[in-house]
Amino acid sequence: TKFEELGLQDSLLRAIQDMGFETPSEVQEKAIPILLNEETDIVALAQTGTGKTAAFGFPLIQKINADSRTTQGLILSPTRELCLQITNELKNYSKYENINVVAIYGGASITDQARQVKKGAQIVVATPGRMQDMINRRMVDISKIEYCVLDEADEMLNMGFYEDITSILSHTPDDKSTWLFSATMPREVATIAKKFMHTPQEITV
Ligand code: AMP
Repeated sequence: TKFEELGLQDSLLRAIQDMGFETPSEVQEKAIPILLNEETDIVALAQTGTGKTAAFGFPLIQKINADSRTTQGLILSPTRELCLQITNELKNYSKYENINVVAIYGGASITDQARQVKKGAQIVVATPGRMQDMINRRMVDISKIEYCVLDEADEMLNMGFYEDITSILSHTPDDKSTWLFSATMPREVATIAKKFMHTPQEITV
């Protein structure tokens, strides 16, 4: 399979070419057509290094309305490092589009991050603790998001973010799509899926 066959728009195909990706990885081949064509929830079992960031990142970029400044996509990730890495990748993927991706994580100025969000962030990539803090302070509005990605869900739960995640999700619309990625499927991840997702399709690589 080629990237051209997955239904990706031209601006993404050009960015993919610039990055030197030649063929889609297995998780990309499985997830991208579903996420582009169906408004569905998915649970994807995929390890780090499988290309999972692009598997959710390409469809997310394509789904975002660049003409609106509203926050439409939220990605939760366990660590500051991963948060920054995802943000950088998404900025690369969307280089030919007018989409703002903002990283929200602890250990850096919250006012700076709030300022960036205020300028109009269609996609927010956040760690759960700082995200919860910014919601409490009314520095970010996720009440209109259409897509929520839970990346490395097992890691986030291992790190004790269950309460933050459930609280954050309670501030999001019920009719959004949720895309959960996890390397393993412990009970806590299944609980999150059961509580917050609607008959997710499952992808395993
Ligand atoms: P990830 O699993 O998302 O952390 O991706 C692992 C690494 O593989 C990252 O450095 C990506 O830039 C790279 N990558 C992702 N998809 C592809 C692809 N289809 N072809 C080549 N490299 C890729």
